[in-house]
Amino acid sequence: MRGPGGPRLLLRRLREVMAEPVTAQARLDRIVVLIASNMVAEVCSLYVSRADGPLELFATEGLKREAVHLTTMRPDEGLVGLIAASAEPLALSDAQNHPSFSFKPETGEEIYQSFLGVPVLRGGNTLGVLVVQNRARRSYSEEEIEALQTTAMLLAELIASGELQSVAGQGAEIALRRPLSLKGSPIAEGLGLGHVVLHQPRIIVTRLVADDVDSEMVRLETAIEAMRVSVDELIERSDNAGPGEHVEVLEAFRMIAHDRGWLRRLREAVSSGLTAEAAVERVQNDARAKLQRQTDPYLRDRLHDLNDLANRLLHQLAGQSLTLLPSALPENAILVARSMGPAALLDYDRSRLRGLVLEEAGASSHIAIVARALSIPAVSEVANISEIVEHGDAIIVDGLTGEVQLRPQPDIEESYRDKARLRARRQDQYRALRDTPSVTRDGVEVGLHMNAGLVVDLPHLDESGAQSIGLFRTELQFMLALRFPRLSAQEMLYRTVLDAAGDRPVTFRTLDIGGDKVLPYMKGPEEENPALGWRAIRIGLDKPALLRTQMRAMLRAGAGRNLRIMLPMVSSVDEFVAARALLERELLFSDRCGRERPRKLEVGLMVEVPSLLWQLDEIAARADFLSVGSNDLLQYLYAADRDNKRVSNRFDTLSAGFLRALKAIADAGRRHDKPVTLCGEIGGRPLEAMTLVALGYRGLSMSAAAIGPVKAMVLSLDAAEAAREVETLLADSGDAASLRGPLRALSERLGVRL
Ligand code: PEP
Ligand code: MG
Repeated sequence: MRGPGGPRLLLRRLREVMAEPVTAQARLDRIVVLIASNMVAEVCSLYVSRADGPLELFATEGLKREAVHLTTMRPDEGLVGLIAASAEPLALSDAQNHPSFSFKPETGEEIYQSFLGVPVLRGGNTLGVLVVQNRARRSYSEEEIEALQTTAMLLAELIASGELQSVAGQGAEIALRRPLSLKGSPIAEGLGLGHVVLHQPRIIVTRLVADDVDSEMVRLETAIEAMRVSVDELIERSDNAGPGEHVEVLEAFRMIAHDRGWLRRLREAVSSGLTAEAAVERVQNDARAKLQRQTDPYLRDRLHDLNDLANRLLHQLAGQSLTLLPSALPENAILVARSMGPAALLDYDRSRLRGLVLEEAGASSHIAIVARALSIPAVSEVANISEIVEHGDAIIVDGLTGEVQLRPQPDIEESYRDKARLRARRQDQYRALRDTPSVTRDGVEVGLHMNAGLVVDLPHLDESGAQSIGLFRTELQFMLALRFPRLSAQEMLYRTVLDAAGDRPVTFRTLDIGGDKVLPYMKGPEEENPALGWRAIRIGLDKPALLRTQMRAMLRAGAGRNLRIMLPMVSSVDEFVAARALLERELLFSDRCGRERPRKLEVGLMVEVPSLLWQLDEIAARADFLSVGSNDLLQYLYAADRDNKRVSNRFDTLSAGFLRALKAIADAGRRHDKPVTLCGEIGGRPLEAMTLVALGYRGLSMSAAAIGPVKAMVLSLDAAEAAREVETLLADSGDAASLRGPLRALSERLGVRL
């Protein structure tokens, strides 16, 4: 059943009421009367979300007027609460028997059987709920539901204008820009305070009602066409970059751009009297609500695609470029994005970036690696953040705890400022230790080295006081590139790194791809189990041209200098021998070309596959050095995927089993007089580092930011005493799953600074 005049007439009338010079309450009162009459309903009520939580009745036609500004619903109460929470419409022909129905005697609503409510949405936020009710039992048609949703958009603008604040009950604040405390996964340490910059900014639609429906339809069609062309161009550009699964993703994107259902809904929204941009926003509201509930990753991706396309359409209609020019960044910018590639982050002006918040960190978190390299505090897995924020919102990112404070209250902001000051003071103290030798109280030298992989990492070498680059992850260059970097590009990078390091050694690790480290342009076979699949040295040995090119680049860059090459994911002595033979061939080739050899060449390997634990003597005898990759060693020892949050923290790095394995590696190094370092994440955590020194490790490689805290620990430690105590702890550990508690207690007893 369609009311008198249909939605188009209603929109026109509502627009007139919006423009009338009356009080806010009078305007609302007229609006609910108009809606009730247009929808042929006895009741129309508007509930508005308040900053303190509840939804307050702001206006009604049909319910008792005394209830206005007195009746409130908790966010989880009644049908109204249900709609606010789900951000979805709800139509019922027998409302009173719905389990969520909550009776409010002061409103006199027991006589109404049928109920239709829709959320009042703006930019992903629910600002209120709009309800119509009928005395008789009836069902509401799709058209009526759509019409009420369209009307709710206008009310959203009215609420957003701030005009209703003056009539709110008991001085309560309307939850327009409500402070939100969110929690995600920390991916790069540090604390950032600033203002939101949307990586791909959304357009906020303010002109909602069409002056002329026909011309709006033309605008919509033109924008759709332009959007399709832009998607085609995107695909063409990526085709040139070579095959890969991203092309399939883009093809799916193109299909959605031609999706009939979606286009029909857009056109219908314009015919109902909305402007072209309001129609896009209206259809997008539904997609957003669905996205919030959808857990299937495939469908989530498709809904995200729809959202992206809607965003493209809005930009076409507004005549704006889709991306903010990285140079147009304001001071104290905190980037917010659904997801982001590492190259995009590197495009921004680093000096203005204070933080990064993502809904999803890319497949293998390359963005996290880059954020860490740039010292940008970052948090990911913050659901729907890019929908909730608006450009310029105040925001705080804590990359240590994963907390994100959106539009914080002044006291919250102050406490974070305190925290930031405290951390800065601590950083100053660490900086003061930069030139202090890393020696324990009883005179044991513990080498502190830095992990790196990008040119932007290099300044940290001086700043942190690292003794060397203990791990240079060469795959990052490959991961950031659009195609395999040429020999010359590889050589240039290695030369730059060696130049920056000066007389400090650099340990270059050969390509460690596969598993979690994916190259978009290298399409390997589909693998059921990539972590146990074709990766790292396995690829290098099967495709020797790849590995030899890299070795050649290293030898050229290292001519006349000290060069250290490290092989990843070695599982057997054979593999090490085979890779070393490849290097020998490259050396001979280099000789034949008359090139200078490195002054000293050392070849070592990562100990990160558990099979090596039973070949330690053999491998230590052959290698020049060993470096423990504790990230992978833990994942393989415990069969717990390091990127799967459900299991990655299930097994403690300070459990007796793991510590015994680590000790065995250090002991083997000592027996063969070969240096053993550790370059996994645990080396950068003071309590773990204390334990490692106690187990016999004399070199740790870590992120630059960790060097200060670990050095402070080393300076306060008596290594011999710690070794005795840890040995006893390990011997007496019984069946304890983790030694973290006892080790922490030990550190306190020994006065170790953590
Ligand atoms: C490790 O596995 O511990 C390591 C240092 O290497 P990556 O994290 O690059 O796999
Ligand atoms: Mg590894």
